[in-house]
This record gives sequence, C-alpha cells and structure tokens, in this order.
Amino acid sequence: MSCGAEIHNQNSELCDKCLSDIEVNVASCRYCGRPWTEGTTCGECRRQRPVYARLVTPFVYGGTIREMILGLKYSGRTDYLPFFARSMVWMLAHRDMLSFDMVVPVPSTFKQFRRRGYNPPGLLVHEIARMLGVPEEHHILVARPGAGQKGKGRAERLESRKQAFFVRPGWMLEGEDVLLVDDVVTTGATVQACAELLKGAGAGKVYVAAVARSDGG
Ligand SMILES: [Zn+2]
Ligand SMILES: [Zn+2]
Repeated sequence: MSCGAEIHNQNSELCDKCLSDIEVNVASCRYCGRPWTEGTTCGECRRQRPVYARLVTPFVYGGTIREMILGLKYSGRTDYLPFFARSMVWMLAHRDMLSFDMVVPVPSTFKQFRRRGYNPPGLLVHEIARMLGVPEEHHILVARPGAGQKGKGRAERLESRKQAFFVRPGWMLEGEDVLLVDDVVTTGATVQACAELLKGAGAGKVYVAAVARSDGG
C-alpha cells in the first residue's frame, strides 16, 4: 500500500519492506505518549502533567509511517485513512481509552483546507467516530488564519499555539469527555493548546489520539 509493491502476505496491507520500517509505539509515557522506556512516566510529565489526560499513538513518527502521513497531508493519499484509523482504535482499546463522548479534530486554517480540499485530522475523526459509533464534532475548534507556528522555548511555543486556535463563539460543553485527534504530534504544543481551549469551553476529560508521535520536545 505504501510503496506500491505487490503484497503477498494476505494479513497485511503493507509489503514486508514497508512493514519492517514501522515502529509501533509500545513503550511510551502513560501521559504524553512520547516513546519512553524508563518507567511509566517521562521526565517532563513528572515535572508537569499535560492539560489532556492521556495521549496515545499507535506508531513512532519515522520511516514508512512518516512517508504515509506526508502522503495523507500533502499528496491526497486518503486511501491510508482506514489503516491509520484502525491502528488508532486498536491502540485506544489496548490502552483502555475507549470511553469518551465525542471526537474532535485539530482544525486546519481555511487556507490549508482550501489548498488540500480536506483536513487530515478531520478525516481521521470521521473514520474513528464511524468505527466506534461516537458523535463527531468538527466545528467547535477553529484555526485562526495567519497565526505563527514558531517559538523557541516550550512556553513560547505553547503560547503561540494558543493564539492559533479559538473556540467558536456560542459553543459550550457540559463536562463531556472529548477525544481530540491530530495526524502527528511532535512537540505536543498544538494538542496542549487545543486541550486547554476545550477544557475552557467546559469539556470534562480530554484524551488525545494521533497516528504517530515523535519524541521531540
Ligand atoms: Zn511497500
Ligand atoms: Zn510524558
């Protein structure tokens, strides 16, 4: 599926070569989901817990998975969605994280949306909500056009990400638990900012799921 090679193993959508270049995110921090092998909680979460309750990703960002995510984000490879969504649901079940009231995507800006014709996290949300029979809500979070992405320090990055989104006026949650979905989590500043906004709008617990996590930041 990823490289276009013919597949001989009928239990897999990927050829052996692509499969061998996938890293499943098994040993990870129980809070932020970053690859972590020294105990259950990473150093950063020991100092300060994230705003969200827990974050899970089935894969570590790199190799075949990185190629596939870039394909989804920039080359219209929406045919990867079922594989991504199934893997995410599998990891949510594996971590006993299937209890939430709605699924919400990290939004694209209008410009990104117009360029791609779709919001990759939004498509993932649609698949996951359908698989689990949970309501999906695409309009609560809005991406602010032209907001800066960059920032050097952790606090600065989080602050600039917080400026990048807002909750649509009039939206209020009443303690519902939310699963927030992104395609890839790198520093975590984006999902932290969105989780904080959801909490501010009245969400109960916010869980996060993405296809892949890098151990950066
Ligand atoms: Zn392949
Ligand atoms: Zn952590």
